[in-house]
Amino acid sequence: MKFNTKTIHGGQKHEETTGSVMPPIFQTSTYAQSSPGVHKGYEYSRAANPTRTALEDNFAAIENGTHGFAFSSGLSAIDCVLKMLNPGDEVIAGDDLYGGSYRMFTRMFQKYGLKFQFVDMNSVENVGRVVSKNTKLVWLETPTNPLMKIADIEEISKTVKSTNPNILVAVDNTFATPYLQQPLDLGADIVMHSATKYLGGHSDLVMGALMVKDQKLAEELHFIQFAGGAVAGPMDSFLALRGIKTLHVRMQRHCENGKAVANFLAGHDKVGAVYYPGFEDHPNHEVAKKQMKDFGGMVSFRLKDERKEAAFKFLESTSVFTLAESLGGVESLVNHPVTMTHASIPEPERLKIGITDSLIRLSVGIEDEKDLLEDLEQALQV
Ligand SMILES: *Cc1c(COP(=O)(O)O)cnc(C)c1O
Repeated sequence: MKFNTKTIHGGQKHEETTGSVMPPIFQTSTYAQSSPGVHKGYEYSRAANPTRTALEDNFAAIENGTHGFAFSSGLSAIDCVLKMLNPGDEVIAGDDLYGGSYRMFTRMFQKYGLKFQFVDMNSVENVGRVVSKNTKLVWLETPTNPLMKIADIEEISKTVKSTNPNILVAVDNTFATPYLQQPLDLGADIVMHSATKYLGGHSDLVMGALMVKDQKLAEELHFIQFAGGAVAGPMDSFLALRGIKTLHVRMQRHCENGKAVANFLAGHDKVGAVYYPGFEDHPNHEVAKKQMKDFGGMVSFRLKDERKEAAFKFLESTSVFTLAESLGGVESLVNHPVTMTHASIPEPERLKIGITDSLIRLSVGIEDEKDLLEDLEQALQV
């Protein structure tokens, strides 16, 4: 099956008792047994629920994996991966991570004895340099949030695995989605999504996903999902599955509109830098072209007027773009990383990587391009 068919049919079968074409929402916690321990594969919905199974099989299919897991949030999916590690183990992570991932690493798992090295994953050498005998996991995002840096998944996987084949490489694929890049095919072991974003696609649920292609790894993650308990509910599983059916169509439009917005901003006299991997002068444009099918719908930029007041005036003036956290929905959103999504990163760290008051992040939706550009133009003139 090709990707555009997998989004709709991947891992799906019609429901057995009625032939229902769409998976029913099995809103149940438990399942009748005919004799102790004799059941139809479902005992208790923390372990498995048929609506969640339908979604998890689809998760696996769209990332070219063998197993998928649905969690109650993106962060609980990351939490599950880190719980495979032991005190003293080292994790190499990008220095431009989603704020919540950084917060979890530094304020939750550091105190349980995990060690984190944050490096700029723009360059493979940076990663190679900090690999040690205790390194167990490399955690990377590409494109990064909010500065749209690109990491070379294939080269990073090769480099760390040439030192030690047991080091796991995990990719937070939330920004790109499997429509644009499929990390398991590029050498990664684990793909993670905040399904809250593009996979769900309609800003109506909070969910996380993990996808893997290895049986033993799948067993380990399934144990932690079951024992830890942060599972997705049946209603949310249904919504996510419905969202994924249009992922390829939505992504195509997100990419078109993203390109139009990036070009518009780059040509505007009130705008400074524009961060978009589709530009030829983006420092990792060649890597982006190699591993991504297109460049997505996320665009960040700075106003030339670097004062916080100027950014706030813009952020209060858009009307088609809603000022809100999150991304990846059909509707366009605008966000101020310093005060919103990245407020949990300490100021010195933020400034070091360039998350300053003048930085604005757009999640470009699938509305009419003309309305989007007109909205940005009027907000830039306020
Ligand atoms: C939103 C997000 C997360 C966290 O996911 P939640 O569903 O909010 O828990 C992780 N990584 C990235 C890149 C995100 O955008």
